[in-house]
Amino acid sequence: MNAVVELQDVHKRFGSNPVLKGVSFAIPKGQVVAIIGQSGSGKSTALRCIDRLETIDSGTIQVCGHAVHAPDVDLRRLRQDVGIVFQSYNLFPHLTVEQNITLAPKAVKGLSSADARAIAERTLRQVGLADKAQAYPEQLSGGQQQRVAIARSLAMEPQVMLFDEVTSALDPQLTGEVLRVIEQLAEGGMTMVLVTHEMEFAARVADTIIYMHAGKVWETGPGAMLKNPQTPELRDFLSHGL
Ligand code: ADP
Ligand code: MG
Repeated sequence: MNAVVELQDVHKRFGSNPVLKGVSFAIPKGQVVAIIGQSGSGKSTALRCIDRLETIDSGTIQVCGHAVHAPDVDLRRLRQDVGIVFQSYNLFPHLTVEQNITLAPKAVKGLSSADARAIAERTLRQVGLADKAQAYPEQLSGGQQQRVAIARSLAMEPQVMLFDEVTSALDPQLTGEVLRVIEQLAEGGMTMVLVTHEMEFAARVADTIIYMHAGKVWETGPGAMLKNPQTPELRDFLSHGL
């Protein structure tokens, strides 16, 4: 089994609210999975469990050889292997773009300033912001800030990237520039999980779409499945949206 990410029968409840009810899926190296579904269906929780930002009640999650929910998991190494980007970019406002990006490589990986700066330069080029290294976050658009957040994640050289609705706070033009960066990462062979409401983008970029409904993987398949939903729930979701 050479899956980079593998969930098996994952159950998770918040108090009396069962949020994940036996979620299983596996992502081979270099593949992109898009998770779609109504608000409240458990998408973010599933993603957060992959990076152990949430505990689980039963089941297993393996990521890059880490048994994520085993008591002896090495969280530091897990977090180096997994990059996660959220809707809110959470850049430090008092630090330049370059300082935001070099912080973790220096603090967590122990890189020298020169090495960390070289990585920042490379990842900023990857997201099309090579000229913004010395800018402060407030001088950038929302789309640019989100691209910096992606560059910051890439600077840790993760094995897999998780994106949770990273364009939801952006207007359509800025959404496009962020999606292009994600698409280039996909073309470069990055293993990724995208939680997204951008259906056309998901259908085009993802190798596999997972439709989550009520805490379960309700339907899964290639992008074409969005043209031919098999369940009334997915049909309804695609016609009515969120
Ligand atoms: P989605 O990302 O698909 O919108 P979430 O995973 O965020 O769904 O939420 C699934 C369910 O879990 C929702 O009912 C939500 O209210 C609940 N939930 C999420 N996070 C928490 C939390 N930290 N505490 C309690 N309930 C939560
Ligand atoms: Mg969510």
